[in-house]
Amino acid sequence: MLRFAVAGTPLSTPKPGGTVEGLLRAKKLGIRAMEIEWVQNVPKNEERMAEIRETAETLGITLTVHAPYFVNLNTPDRAKLAASKRRVLDALAMAELCGASSVCVHAAFNLGLPPEKVLENVRRATEDIMRNKHALFPHVNLAYETMGKQTQFGTLEDVLKVSKEFGNYPCVDPAHMHARENGKVNSAEEWNDMFDLYATHLGTGALRHVHMHFSGIAYTAKGERHHLPLQRSDAKWRDFLKVLKKRKIEGILVCESPLLEKDTLLMQDMYRKL
Ligand SMILES: [Zn+2]
Repeated sequence: MLRFAVAGTPLSTPKPGGTVEGLLRAKKLGIRAMEIEWVQNVPKNEERMAEIRETAETLGITLTVHAPYFVNLNTPDRAKLAASKRRVLDALAMAELCGASSVCVHAAFNLGLPPEKVLENVRRATEDIMRNKHALFPHVNLAYETMGKQTQFGTLEDVLKVSKEFGNYPCVDPAHMHARENGKVNSAEEWNDMFDLYATHLGTGALRHVHMHFSGIAYTAKGERHHLPLQRSDAKWRDFLKVLKKRKIEGILVCESPLLEKDTLLMQDMYRKL
C-alpha cells in the first residue's frame, strides 16, 4: 500500500492545534499518514509521545518524522558534530516512542570538500549514531534525504550508498532532485531510472516500503529555492503518480507542498483515479 502523508499538522486543524489534534483532523479529511515536523527541535515529553502513538494507532494513521534542520554531519567543529549527532539521535529515539517508522534527516553541507570526503565524514558519524540503534530506536529507519542544493550532501547515489551500508533506506525527494539537476528529473523515464537505481542498491523488495517526499519546487542554477504548490509549479506530478502506480511502489509519500492537506488530497485523489 502507498500512503499519502501530510507534512505536519493540517492547516485546517482547530486551534490550538498540536500533533494529536492534527491527527484527528487528518483522519476526518481522509488522510492516512503524517510526517511529524520536528524541524526546529525535538520534544522530550515521553507521555506526549505515548499519546501520539495511541492516537495514531487508534485512527490507523502511519507516522514518519522530519528531524531538525540544524544538523551537519560533515562539520569539522567537534562540538557542532556532537550536537548534530545528538539531534538526530533524539529524533530517532522519540520517533521510536511515538511509533514512527522512519526519520528523515538532512545529513550534511559539503563545505567545499570533495564528495568522497563528505561521504566518508557522514559515514563515520552514521556509525556513531547506529551504535545506539538497539537501545534507542530498534524499529526506526534513519533516512538521509536527497537534497535540493549542490552545496548539500544528498545525491541519490550517495544517500543510497550510506543507507545500504547500515541497513537503512533513504528519504527520496524527487522535487529536490529536480531542483538540484536544474529541471531534469521530471519525466516518467527519469523517475523510472531513479527507482531502478534505488532497487540496484537496496533490492526490488525495498520499493515496497519507501519513504518519499514530493512537492512543487522553485529553483535556480544553484538548486532549490523553496517549495511550491503542485499546481503552481512545473512538476509533472500526475506523471509521477502514474510511475508510482505502474511500478506498485509502496510505503509513504509525504506531500511537502505549502498547501499541506490540500495538495496531499489532490495527489491521493488523482492516484486513486488512475
Ligand atoms: Zn527535508
